[in-house]
Amino acid sequence: MGLLSDALSRVQPSATVGITQRARQMAQAGADIIALSAGEPDFDTPEHVRKAAIAAIERGETRYTNVDGIAELKEAVAAKFRRDNGLDVTAQDCFVSSGGKQIIFNALMATLNPGDEVVVPLPYWVSYPEIVRLAGAEPVFAEASQATGFKLTPETLEAAISPRTKWLLLNTPSNPSGAAYTADELKGLAEVLLRHPHVYILTDDIYEVLVYDGRSFATIAEVEPRLLARTLTMNGVSKSHAMTGWRIGYCTGPREILAAMLKLQGQSTTNPTSISQWAAVEALNGPQAFLLEWRDVFQKRRDYVVARLRGCKGLECLVPEGAFYAFPSCAALLGGTSAGGRKIATDEDFVMGLLEENGVALVHGTAFGLPGHFRISYAASDSDLERAMDRIEAFCAGIV
Ligand code: GLU
Repeated sequence: MGLLSDALSRVQPSATVGITQRARQMAQAGADIIALSAGEPDFDTPEHVRKAAIAAIERGETRYTNVDGIAELKEAVAAKFRRDNGLDVTAQDCFVSSGGKQIIFNALMATLNPGDEVVVPLPYWVSYPEIVRLAGAEPVFAEASQATGFKLTPETLEAAISPRTKWLLLNTPSNPSGAAYTADELKGLAEVLLRHPHVYILTDDIYEVLVYDGRSFATIAEVEPRLLARTLTMNGVSKSHAMTGWRIGYCTGPREILAAMLKLQGQSTTNPTSISQWAAVEALNGPQAFLLEWRDVFQKRRDYVVARLRGCKGLECLVPEGAFYAFPSCAALLGGTSAGGRKIATDEDFVMGLLEENGVALVHGTAFGLPGHFRISYAASDSDLERAMDRIEAFCAGIV
């Protein structure tokens, strides 16, 4: 009898978390590392939000709360979904967890059984298939490669659905590709989903505010209200309000699923941190105008990074429409040898070589289901991006 659980043996560790941890250790040991491996804004949490958290501590808001969030936050979440997304929901339809990842974890663990399938567009965020496997179900990958702008087409979705499909996981704007679905594109997917009433939709909208070039954000239950009853719409303050460490994610979805999530969360973490919840109330109810200023900063960084990537020997890069990642192909460099004498046979060799020889941490495409690519987060300062791009350019130029 082994020590570890069978469920865990089905699961890969998170590459985004793992590589960032490795970069942090190398930096602590004195190496000069620029980490563009985890997606997190380099901005400080806004002052009004920090003050709301301090006030909550001073008021003594330091005890257990409702498992699914304080009433004030659930009200703020419902108001946000009505205001920004046109979703006709109340606080009773909303739920708060310790980060968006816990919302997804709860929803999938609470609903999946062995034999169930979950359609996961590929490339995917590293944690989606692993949480599906942890829950004992099977991810079914629906390729959304560079040829379709990294977007799922109605035909590919149709082909991936079977009688065993329980969920479709959507993520727009996408981590890692930056693809952002238009309302029309979502409508096309919704038409397929209307023909398959047994399929639920979990949409991860955590990058909602980061859509560029004048695009507007759309979410599937808004575009097709007939899907509202079987859509779980997930969001959070981490990426929008530079609050990754506060760990607050939230969702709205069918009450039957929320009740099951409550049971699960009540037997695991109980409530998200009380102080973070009060900070999130302020984030959602307070001023929002600065989000657009931040978005414009990210757009400039995207333009800079994409132009520099396109100038690197052997790299190809689509222009991301949203989020703060670019997902270039490094396929043309595979098979070469780096300046440090390392064989670069795979995207993982590329990323490891770059980290060890030139001190830049990125994540290999295979972790997102698409070999021959890598992900770079441009949620970093202009000076870090410039130094990192010089190093990436030099590393690519050195591969022969
Ligand atoms: N979601 C971010 C990323 O993909 C944070 C790390 C993680 O949880 O994966 O980099």
